[in-house]
Amino acid sequence: MKIISEDETAAKAGPAGDDADTAAVRIDDVAVRFRTKKRDVTALHKVSLDIGMGEFVAIVGPSGCGKSTLLKLIAGLLKPSGGGLWLRGEKVTGPRPDIGYVFQRAALLEWRTARRNILLQAEMRKMPAGQARERADRLIEMTGLRGFEDAHPHELSGGMQQRVALCRALLHEPPVLLMDEPFGALDALTREQMNVELNRIWRETGTTVVLVTHSIAEAVYLADRVVVMSPRPGTVEEIIDVGLPAERDYSATMARPEFARATGRIRELLGAGPALD
Ligand code: ADP
Ligand code: MG
Repeated sequence: MKIISEDETAAKAGPAGDDADTAAVRIDDVAVRFRTKKRDVTALHKVSLDIGMGEFVAIVGPSGCGKSTLLKLIAGLLKPSGGGLWLRGEKVTGPRPDIGYVFQRAALLEWRTARRNILLQAEMRKMPAGQARERADRLIEMTGLRGFEDAHPHELSGGMQQRVALCRALLHEPPVLLMDEPFGALDALTREQMNVELNRIWRETGTTVVLVTHSIAEAVYLADRVVVMSPRPGTVEEIIDVGLPAERDYSATMARPEFARATGRIRELLGAGPALD
């Protein structure tokens, strides 16, 4: 029997693999260690995951298991200590222009109107002004912000601010959208509305979405697959195929057996561990 060395195994699973070109995101045996003066922390350990083009993947897991770290790796904002990542077949070596990023807090500029906060993306990427305006208009319409374009962030509700952040993240039509607990600060009803809207935007744009959330219901309602991570050092514990149709009516979806099955399984996996954040 031939013993395959670790290097050979890694090469096999690497970008030369069969579907490397077609995967929107390929995460291959990634590890992240943080070294600080006080301690060394292994945040991620042996994380591998392929995300298809146009797929919606949600990530859930206990606080500190490395969810935000994983998104930063995909965005090229952080380098892995081991393993590699590929975005649409290209190795991630630094910040990428072909992603959109939405954070927990909208992070809007207070002195800019909603529209000018959205257009910030165009300025940073030096997009043609006409094209940027057209897209901003379409996104404003799509997210129900019409009439509030000239409002400043303090005049907008939390949900509206998050919509502005979403428009800004989508302005350059990124093939991959990363969202880190984007609705965590919203009240339950607004969050529900944002979920319905995100489902529609995802279907309309065909964007690949990676969403970190601490809501099991949100994960299952939105995603094709839910990745459940283990406590630190974070690794993929199980991947749940949700098996619901892409178009999802909110209450009807929650009443479906697939919804109950998926949420039940995730609860089982997370139930024994520490609380979600
Ligand atoms: P999550 O988003 O799942 O709550 P994070 O990805 O933010 O977890 O963090 C994972 C672990 O890595 C945590 O223990 C955190 O304290 C640690 N960590 C994250 N970023 C850094 C950093 N820049 N320096 C040192 N430790 C970090
Ligand atoms: Mg986090």
